[in-house]
Amino acid sequence: MEQHINASTLILTCGDITKETTDAIINAANNRLAGGGGVDGAIHRTGGPTIMKECRKIGGCPTGKAVITTGGNLKAKYVIHTVGPRYQEGTRNEAALLKSAYLESLKLASKKNLKSVAFPAISTGVYGYPLNEAANIALQTTIDYLKEHQDITLVKFVLYDQNSYNIFIEELKKIR
Ligand code: ADP
Repeated sequence: MEQHINASTLILTCGDITKETTDAIINAANNRLAGGGGVDGAIHRTGGPTIMKECRKIGGCPTGKAVITTGGNLKAKYVIHTVGPRYQEGTRNEAALLKSAYLESLKLASKKNLKSVAFPAISTGVYGYPLNEAANIALQTTIDYLKEHQDITLVKFVLYDQNSYNIFIEELKKIR
């Protein structure tokens, strides 16, 4: 599914983000940038050890912030590592932190003059964020950003399973 926002395109697709050819892919990392399971593990496995080497140099990333490394063996030139919140009943500022993770990633992409980025569904795996709420925050934050910034021309959401994909579509339709 595709939507145009001013000069930019927003695409929702189902698949494996490590195969993406956008300028950067976004990693749902942890505070220590230490690698892990889920999308983080897949990115480091496919991208090779250079990415982890750079992550170690950076040292860490607070929740809601983002840092950038090269893409190693990935097709994408860069990986933007952001840290979404662990969902704890919604009482720990999770919504603001998830919004910030998307926003800081987009701002970093703009700062590095990147034209296209691909996001996974941050925090919706091991971190347990309810999918509908997470999808709404992801899409609303991205759409608002693209309305104000013309420099990023393509944002893709690469959803790993059919259920996440369906929920993102549902939330995008609500926003429209
Ligand atoms: P978090 O700790 O932020 O919840 P996870 O990696 O556990 O991060 O999950 C985030 C989302 O990424 C989940 O929806 C999961 O299904 C998805 N995911 C896992 N592997 C991939 C992949 N290779 N490409 C895209 N999305 C993936």
